[in-house]
Amino acid sequence: MFASARRLALLAAALGGLAATVIAAPPLAPAPRTAEKPPTSDLVTTQEGKLPVILSAPHGGTHDVPGVAPRKGDGLPVGGSGFFAGRDGNTEELAHAVSAAIAKKTGKKPYLVVAKFHRKYIDANRPPEIAYEDARAKPTYDAYRQALAAYCRAVKKEYGRGLLLDIHGQGAMKDAVIRGTKDGKTVSLLTQRYGEKAHTGPNSFFGLLAGNGCKVFPERLAEKEYASLNGGNIVQTYGSGEYGIDAIQLEFGGEYREKAKLNDTADRVAATVDQFAKLYLNDK
Ligand SMILES: [Zn+2]
Repeated sequence: MFASARRLALLAAALGGLAATVIAAPPLAPAPRTAEKPPTSDLVTTQEGKLPVILSAPHGGTHDVPGVAPRKGDGLPVGGSGFFAGRDGNTEELAHAVSAAIAKKTGKKPYLVVAKFHRKYIDANRPPEIAYEDARAKPTYDAYRQALAAYCRAVKKEYGRGLLLDIHGQGAMKDAVIRGTKDGKTVSLLTQRYGEKAHTGPNSFFGLLAGNGCKVFPERLAEKEYASLNGGNIVQTYGSGEYGIDAIQLEFGGEYREKAKLNDTADRVAATVDQFAKLYLNDK
């Protein structure tokens, strides 16, 4: 009764203001966000998902960007969040393997954005002003980042929450997977809903990943993250800010990225995603 009475009141108010509304209305309404279609590129693989999980892998590509010279990084700090042109070996393959393993485990595909372009031309895990040096690289960079942004919005809209996993490779600890959340900042929506344990407890993403047989860092999950690998521009941009979802950077050591071990690694990550989704991504 209350709802329908309220609707009637709103309708009356709307009708009352109709003449003024018509005069005041702007000539063009903004396009609805549901129709958002990011630009596409032959150098970026994208996949729409059926789960509130988005996989990203910006550093595993091998392809040249036509007409674009390798970046030089002049004037940029080196390493960490600065200039680095090396590939995260086998992470393109790993991202696809994780996607396939999640689909097998849950019956549903995750969203996916994977670079086919080599990092020496474009670093999609950097803000645009330092991600590329040649304007001809911009459309490819934009295709990557706008696809990610569109998928984050789609997930938030459909599920009200979500998890972005940004997949990388590191050379610091070959037998470990290093967590990057800016020490919890990029998963603050998760911890607001479920408490700190959802980030640092045995049923956190990295706690579950350890339970699925991966050596994780930090090993004691509440301790500080590895300083230079604790979360780059992607997780900082899309995690726990205006996009309304959480984000975790996964830095895989070399042993997890060996060709013969990719499917095994992918199965462990998929089992973790399945457990995590049931605990934290279920209700709207
Ligand atoms: Zn990387």
